[in-house]
Amino acid sequence: MRLKAVLLVLLVAWVPLFAQPKVVALKNGSSTSYIGGFVDLNHVYISLDDMAQGLGLHTFTLQSTGKLSVYSKYGSLLFTPNNNFIMLSVGTETRMFQLPLPVLSADGKLYMPANYAGSYFSRILRENLAYDEKKAEFSLSEMSTASTEISGVQGTGKANGAVIEISMQSLPTAYAATIGQGNMLYVTLMPAVANIQQLNSLPPTSVYSNIIAIQNPNSVQLSFKLKQNYISSQVMMDSTTNTVIVSLYSQVDVKKILSEEIKRKLEKEKNNWKLGVIVIDPGHGGKDPGATGVLGTEEKNITLAIAKDLKRDLNMRLPGVKVVLTRDKDEFVPLDERGEIANKAGGKLFISIHCNSMPSKPNPAHGVETYFLRPGKTNEAIRIAAQENAAIKYENDYEKKYKSYDADNMILTTMAHSAYVKYSEQLAELIEQDVSRVAHLADNGVSQAGFYVLIGASMPAVLVETGYLSNIREERFLRSKTGQQEIARGLTDAIVQYRAEYEKNFAEN
Ligand SMILES: [Zn+2]
Repeated sequence: MRLKAVLLVLLVAWVPLFAQPKVVALKNGSSTSYIGGFVDLNHVYISLDDMAQGLGLHTFTLQSTGKLSVYSKYGSLLFTPNNNFIMLSVGTETRMFQLPLPVLSADGKLYMPANYAGSYFSRILRENLAYDEKKAEFSLSEMSTASTEISGVQGTGKANGAVIEISMQSLPTAYAATIGQGNMLYVTLMPAVANIQQLNSLPPTSVYSNIIAIQNPNSVQLSFKLKQNYISSQVMMDSTTNTVIVSLYSQVDVKKILSEEIKRKLEKEKNNWKLGVIVIDPGHGGKDPGATGVLGTEEKNITLAIAKDLKRDLNMRLPGVKVVLTRDKDEFVPLDERGEIANKAGGKLFISIHCNSMPSKPNPAHGVETYFLRPGKTNEAIRIAAQENAAIKYENDYEKKYKSYDADNMILTTMAHSAYVKYSEQLAELIEQDVSRVAHLADNGVSQAGFYVLIGASMPAVLVETGYLSNIREERFLRSKTGQQEIARGLTDAIVQYRAEYEKNFAEN
């Protein structure tokens, strides 16, 4: 008993004894106040009383337990000494959040880790309280990235894998999904909040047996115990329903699909194993001008001119190969029809030609980017995909027509393409290299993106952004005959090389 009492005294006394004092600034408009605290094992702890005072919030300490409540006009936070849980009440809702580090008590005052304070106070302030670790400074600003709440989770088994749909108030700005050992799936969404207890008590589905949700300051991590082994996952955002869709691919099915796909393809290729038909898709057209340059150049005209040059070059260098254009004049062709034209022509390759543009013009951004089909990964790829997919709005019944590409149909469409992804990536690499080399444009690399025009084509498909119309120098180059011919020659070099590799591959099989 005595030893226990000594230990307890040591623990309570430990914080002020060994911690280094620390003062943190709090900037609220033009006024600055200071918050006392200390550094403990590299973590900065701040006084909750000082923070509340600096923010003009009321506090109440329950003497018997040492619990501290902080009130704003919107809600309250309840802190418990030496405890990781914070209770947040906003309006009629009350929720518990778990901190990775406990709230500490010293000299009868409570302290919390500075890194985590901002997100909790932000919620009762309805303003953004950000902590800059380097400057040791809190600053208050208008709420810009409000956390979005998870409202539901659903798992559905599919023939090719499984889909987990996470419904949210609005889509998070950052996300990740990883498959871990022991059939675990970890999904992180940011910024996000969740009712942890509710999520943790959701019933099992055919896909997972349980969910463990953890609320981090700005993000939510969901750990799913999966009922079977999946080899890969993809995350997609459905902005029409605010759903985060995690597609899981099962090993067996992918292999089966790939081998069936390849077997079928090989059988077909035995009779006709040559890369016999190439489909060139000049982006936009007709009522859809695409991007407009600083000097007024319209993307649709450049893409058509390059496509025509490319067709001529290919006819010359690959006699016997049929070259099909999805449009050969200034006309509007819906995106799904472009894929259909390619499929009907028996295309072995689909190349969609575009010109890039930044939202603000003129803009120094320049160079060539090549994309192949995959759900958008980088922010840049998402921006480009949004820009190019916007052509859909020129189609009359676009909402009905493209709805089927969302949610779980997407998984099936991308699965069907998995056999082509390798080829698409190889072709994209060659195009990126050769176009930037021949046309002396910057090589911005190959990315994966989700373009509707690429989804429709059942063959290796790439989309090339041949330079920026928002950059005057590149716009002049793109509208010049020399520029168009050089880009076409770069594309031809890439296709000729790709064809040699492709045919060698099938000859070996
Ligand atoms: Zn375009």
